[in-house]
Amino acid sequence: MKVMKFGGTSVGTAQRMKNMSALVADEGEALVVLSAMSGTTNNLIEISDAVVAGKVDEANSMLRLLEETYRNVAAELLSDLSLREEAARRLDTFFAQLRDCVSAPADELTQKSIVAYGERLSTNLVELYMLQEGMDVVLLDATDFMRTGADGEPDEEYIRRHLGELLAANPGHCTYLTQGFICLDHRGRIHNLQRGGSDYTASLIGAAIDAEEIQIWTDIDGMHNNDPRFVENTSPVGELHFEEAAELAYFGAKILHPTCVLPAKRSNIPVRLLNTMEPQAKGTTIYNAPSTRCIKAVAAKDSITAIKIKSSHMLLAYGFLRKVFEIFEKYRTPIDMITTSEVGVSVTIDNCCNLDAICGELSELGDVTVDRDMVIICVVGDLEWQNRGFEAEVVNALRDIPVRMISYGGSNYNISLLIRSSDKVEALKALSSHLF
Ligand code: ADP
Ligand code: ASP
Ligand code: MG
Repeated sequence: MKVMKFGGTSVGTAQRMKNMSALVADEGEALVVLSAMSGTTNNLIEISDAVVAGKVDEANSMLRLLEETYRNVAAELLSDLSLREEAARRLDTFFAQLRDCVSAPADELTQKSIVAYGERLSTNLVELYMLQEGMDVVLLDATDFMRTGADGEPDEEYIRRHLGELLAANPGHCTYLTQGFICLDHRGRIHNLQRGGSDYTASLIGAAIDAEEIQIWTDIDGMHNNDPRFVENTSPVGELHFEEAAELAYFGAKILHPTCVLPAKRSNIPVRLLNTMEPQAKGTTIYNAPSTRCIKAVAAKDSITAIKIKSSHMLLAYGFLRKVFEIFEKYRTPIDMITTSEVGVSVTIDNCCNLDAICGELSELGDVTVDRDMVIICVVGDLEWQNRGFEAEVVNALRDIPVRMISYGGSNYNISLLIRSSDKVEALKALSSHLF
């Protein structure tokens, strides 16, 4: 069975829901994962922010607007009278529950509870539309099988077992439909896989059912060789190795959620990035692609802070780097890039919540300098070190831009450079015109 995941824009209007349902009908057997309609998750976050800020009237008026939108989508989607009535009943229930969330005292679960309705709304309407079209569809509730463990990571064993049981209890259907993004935590409370997390749901499900393929349907014809939001004339990359895709997703290619590649890679399931507006386009296939010896794509990760620790004690010392890294570990702050010299080390982080405390402790090891508002530019491809010239080409492309750090050799798949945010667009453009 294939997994087909449709993102927010692919279910963004009644017409798009109809189009994606037709794509699913063409596929035959599939497990379909849906995001919320585009804009809805943002709306729900605004509503919960208002609740948390004590602005209940404001939250209720935003909720009324959202309800009106969904009533209109249902009307446009469904012509069958009894299915229209069923949609009205489901919307009555969901919006009554949302109003309850809005009027309850705010607590740590307020946002998660409210935001979970986006995917419930989209899947419920699409299920009714598919039934209207005579499709053999069954809706599975993601919270019946998606769960994170005590470590906050998806509990893959639990997911495999519970999804397996659910499918066994509903055998023989053509289309299984479920919500992306939402899950329960290890205590059974509502939770989610973070913004953009429906890709992750699809990949976890793919691994859990040993899917033949995981399709990520979106609004662009695959992974482009540069960020189309900043660079013109980018083009899709036909094939990517799992490692290349993981680097690109982690370093800012928004088309894929950063964690989504791992479950597919572990189970060796190909991931295909496809365009709902142009279903015939080839898109990108991510798999154990053979070696190509070329640079394939560039991405940029924003909001990076660089920290340099300079110490005369580092010279000939062992244990210095361990002391540095232990401080980051203590504050649960992941490091993205590292460069070292004889007298110091520079690292980058994207989570500054504990920056002051970290710098305080680092200053006991040496002089600390912090550079904020930086960007990691990540150049990805099959860049094995024996091949000559890749680094030279990249550095040459950026010769007019000040570069704060350069890192290569951590894997065969990327060269990372740290530059100022204000130089990002120029750097991306320069790399496109030199490399592709
Ligand atoms: P969805 O809602 O379907 O999950 P996203 O908005 O999360 O879609 O991802 C698709 C968007 O990712 C594209 O519209 C594009 O603007 C952006 N994007 C950023 N970098 C890339 C890239 N390298 N290739 C393709 N799309 C990219
Ligand atoms: N609806 C969620 C979001 O907007 C998850 C997703 O679309 O992947 O972030
Ligand atoms: Mg997305």
